[in-house]
Amino acid sequence: MIVTLDSGDALILVDVQNDFLPGGSLAVPMGNEVIPILNRYISLFHAHGLGIFATRDWHPPDHSSFLEQGGAWPPHCIAATPGAAFPASLEFPCDTQIISKATNRGKDAYSGFDDTQLEPLLKWSGIGRVFIGGLATEYCVLNTVKDALEYRYVTFVLEDAVRAMNISTDDGRQALEEMTRLGAIPIRFESLAA
Ligand SMILES: [Zn+2]
Repeated sequence: MIVTLDSGDALILVDVQNDFLPGGSLAVPMGNEVIPILNRYISLFHAHGLGIFATRDWHPPDHSSFLEQGGAWPPHCIAATPGAAFPASLEFPCDTQIISKATNRGKDAYSGFDDTQLEPLLKWSGIGRVFIGGLATEYCVLNTVKDALEYRYVTFVLEDAVRAMNISTDDGRQALEEMTRLGAIPIRFESLAA
């Protein structure tokens, strides 16, 4: 299947942040592999003047998702720390729209749509189709894709530009299957026509 980009398309990068990369406090194995691939998508979308959105975990230091507060995760992506920053190797255009999520102590958010301006921004921009990649497949990518489908966007998942935590070996593969079953369309860079 070849997909031709048009003016109602947007690229959504999910949580490509230092703490989720090898060496970070909550590293996704081989998470760094998505960066050069996402840069190709970024470059193509930017060349077509299409919107690029980047979500980020942006937690307070005592966030409820952290182990010390009874949550499931080691501290990660604390707002305005180097771990929460996007890696320098990610080549964002200057008009990339940054979406911070899970900014309140008491609430976690896996989806980029959860208590953010992402949905109104997409609506105001006249977006009909979204192309979603990033980290990690079975958490924030999965939940962002599910919400995009819920909001009735035609939703593509960039299967070459996601990586899974895989706490259980098969989690990433199962998440991709679930997204597909719910109506998301898996796509690879080679399938995009300029
Ligand atoms: Zn988090």
